[in-house]
Amino acid sequence: MDPSWGGSKVIQFNYDPIRTLSWPIQSGRVSFFWKGVLTCLPALRNCISHEVSSGKDTLFWKDGWLNGIAPMNLWPEEFYTCRRPNGTIHELGHLLDEVPCIDNDLIDQVRAKVRRPDNLLGDKKKWRLTGNEIFSVKTFYNFLIDGGLRCPVSRFFWRGGWPKKINLFNWLAWKNKILSLENLTVRRCNRLPTDTCVLCHAGSESCDHLFIDCSYTKQVWEHFIRLLHFPSAPTSLKDLWGHWRTGLANKKRIFGDLVAKAIVWNICLARNDCIFNDNVLHINSLILKIARMIMSWCSSVSEGLREKMEAT
Ligand SMILES: [Zn+2]
Repeated sequence: MDPSWGGSKVIQFNYDPIRTLSWPIQSGRVSFFWKGVLTCLPALRNCISHEVSSGKDTLFWKDGWLNGIAPMNLWPEEFYTCRRPNGTIHELGHLLDEVPCIDNDLIDQVRAKVRRPDNLLGDKKKWRLTGNEIFSVKTFYNFLIDGGLRCPVSRFFWRGGWPKKINLFNWLAWKNKILSLENLTVRRCNRLPTDTCVLCHAGSESCDHLFIDCSYTKQVWEHFIRLLHFPSAPTSLKDLWGHWRTGLANKKRIFGDLVAKAIVWNICLARNDCIFNDNVLHINSLILKIARMIMSWCSSVSEGLREKMEAT
C-alpha cells in the first residue's frame, strides 16, 4: 500500500494486524454491506498472482505468490498454527528457511530477491482474469456469478413486459431477501412486539408464509387456480419457480408467471397497508385488484407475447 495515499491511514487503522489484536473484532451487529463485500475477499485473492520483489506488498500465507497459489492452500496445517496469518513475506522472511519452504527452486529465488539489501522495488500484482492483467470489475463480477448459469430461474424470470420493480421484488422474495418480519427479527430490526403474520395472526411471517402458506394468501391462490385451471397451489416460493412452474403446460407458463408475480406483489402491498395504515383489505377487493393489474399488464405487453397469452 502506498503510504502517501490519503486512504492508507484509514485502512491501516481498521485492518492493521497489531491494531486488530488491541481492538478485537466486533461480535454484535456489523454492516451487512461490508459483511457481503468481505466474503468476496478470498475469491479476489485467488484471482491475483504476485511477482515478489521486496516482499513488502505480498502476504506470506494468503497471497498467491507460488505459481499463483497461496501457501495457506498448499500447507493448511502450518497456516492454522501460524501466529501471524496476515504478515508479509518481508515480515515473515524467517519462514523461508523453514520446512516446508526448503528445497524449492521458486522459493530460493524469492528468498534471494527479498534479502537483497538494495531491493526497494514493490511487488507486482497481476489480475488473472484479463489478458492485459489489469483488474476490471466486470471480469470479477462474472467470475463471482459464474456467468449467471447456476441460477435456475434467470433463463425465464426477467422475460415479459412486467414492470421492473415487480420483477425485482419477486426475485428478492424468491431469494428470501425482503424485509419480512422474520428477517427483520433475525436482523434485530423488528419494531413490532412479535414476528407474527399480521394477515392471519397464525404463524411467523416468513417469505414462504406470507406469499404461500398464509390462510389469507391461500384464498387468493385458490381463486386464481380455480379460474385458470392450474393444477394446484405452490407449496413454497422455491416450488413456485421450480416444480410448480414446470408442472404447467408450456402455453400456460407465461400466464402463470404473470399471475404469480401479481399475487406476490399485491399480497405485499396488502400486508404493508395492514401494518402501516391499520387497514385490512377484504379478500374480494384484493382479488379484484390483482385481476385488474393482470389485465392492465396484458394490454401493455408486446404484440407477440399477447398473442401467446391469448392462445392459453
Ligand atoms: Zn399469515
